[in-house]
Amino acid sequence: MTHVHSTATRKFTSETRPFLICGEWRSTPVSQAIPCIDPATGNNIATVCGASRDDATAAIEAARRSFDERSWQDKTPAEKAKILWKVADLIEEHADVLAELEVLDGGKLFDAAKNGEVPMAAESFRYYAGWTTKLEGKTSRISSAGNAPFHCYTEYEPVGVVGMILPWNGPLVMAAWKLAPALAAGCSCVVKPAEQTCLSTLYLGELLMLAGVPAGVVNIVPGSGSVVGAAISESPLVDKISFTGSTATGKQLLEAAKGNLKKLTLELGGKSPAIVLADCDMDKTVEGVAAGIFSGAGQVCVAGSRLYVERPIYDEFVQKLVQHTNNIQVGEGFDEANEMGPLISETHLQSVLGFIQEAEKSGACVAAGGTRIKRDGFFMRPTVLVDVDDKMLIATEEVFGPVLVVQAFDDLEDVISRANASDYGLAASVWTSNVGKAHQIIRQIRAGISWVNCHGLPDMAMPFGGFKQSGWGREAGLEGLLQYCEMRSVLVNIAH
Ligand code: NAP
Ligand code: MG
Repeated sequence: MTHVHSTATRKFTSETRPFLICGEWRSTPVSQAIPCIDPATGNNIATVCGASRDDATAAIEAARRSFDERSWQDKTPAEKAKILWKVADLIEEHADVLAELEVLDGGKLFDAAKNGEVPMAAESFRYYAGWTTKLEGKTSRISSAGNAPFHCYTEYEPVGVVGMILPWNGPLVMAAWKLAPALAAGCSCVVKPAEQTCLSTLYLGELLMLAGVPAGVVNIVPGSGSVVGAAISESPLVDKISFTGSTATGKQLLEAAKGNLKKLTLELGGKSPAIVLADCDMDKTVEGVAAGIFSGAGQVCVAGSRLYVERPIYDEFVQKLVQHTNNIQVGEGFDEANEMGPLISETHLQSVLGFIQEAEKSGACVAAGGTRIKRDGFFMRPTVLVDVDDKMLIATEEVFGPVLVVQAFDDLEDVISRANASDYGLAASVWTSNVGKAHQIIRQIRAGISWVNCHGLPDMAMPFGGFKQSGWGREAGLEGLLQYCEMRSVLVNIAH
């Protein structure tokens, strides 16, 4: 059945979208417009006003003022909680629009957006609403003053103005994962969505205003990384950057943040291994491993892109995996029958196909997919490569597409060392019916998040982030909140 977009979505996409500075929606000249492209058709579906460097500066100054005037940070924990909870309610009320925008602008599947990403965004605000009233320091007995009477305690403070630089692969969830803890901590924010996917972030901005977040506390400025992103990351008025994206850009941010030694949280790339033992439940594992790489068309930082299968089941497993992969229905996200959507852009599609061609030249063999789908938009077939060598680029670089490389292994020691032979350390999964073995393997894998008999499941209670060059810091959980806090120690001489 043809999906009919909601009236709100049609209205939202029919007008050029202004950006948000100090509670006002501002427009810029047409020359700065950013076209919003539907990856399923290649068509321009909306236009967003692009911010200039001056606009970015105005947004940063608005955030700074709101922080220094304490319009948000001085609200009581319960008042903050109420507003964050209200944001979550509004996200749920507007679930159809938000999901439609994720499909139209980011190439998501509607069902995944409506029942996965939108609830996850709402849950992020609700989860951190709960923490606002529980962010507690400690009292300590100290030794350095001998027996003199002292009362000593610690308390958390918001880190200050936070610049949030978002990727295109999960615009709504990434915005929620950063804004909810930052607001719960009492920070003021400047958000730069990726140019390809501004719409849901701007819509979320409207909901934040509606919920009662004071003017200037959240500012949203779409624009390019080299202009708006650079302005935010270099500004001495910004105390912290929270970034999700490529490891290469993460390293640039390090350089830009040097000036005032900004704090950085970096959620970067991955090349995550999935390790399948001979005693796994084969059919369920085939399905789970395929979902671990092909969900989101592989444009997911934790995608299980390196598959290691224990030798005795290798041939049968690959045969079943190839069959499963060939049956995945690819197409536009509003058709419920489709299981995989498009890639984000023509440039990105070409980059992914380039990796496959390069792998074939190096001796890898395409067992499934490997090609573009000839139709409008940026679609390709889910791809499985065999005869892969650990040293090939396809086995070491983050492709960020629906491309799985499969290799056999003979013993656990060998597979653990191969799984760890990567600059990345974001995620891993182990597939087995032997729980003891699963724990032993996971304990030796250098990854921030590991799954057993599943791959990719996020949860607000489970801190998320990378070892090695997959990043710094964690999102979600209490750890995610503390990334937006400073700690103050207070030593009071009570004999005075
Ligand atoms: P990217 O360059 O890292 O972009 C992520 C965000 O950083 C975007 O908002 C981008 O802005 C901004 N940015 C770029 N250069 C910047 C700079 N010098 N200063 C401040 N901000 C800057 O990633 P991409 O080019 O979109 O994708 C390239 C590759 O990155 C992908 O193929 C994939 O391998 C990886 N990636 C990983 C993740 C992840 O979740 N770990 C997410 C996205 C991409 P604009 O793009 O708007 O200019
Ligand atoms: Mg788009």
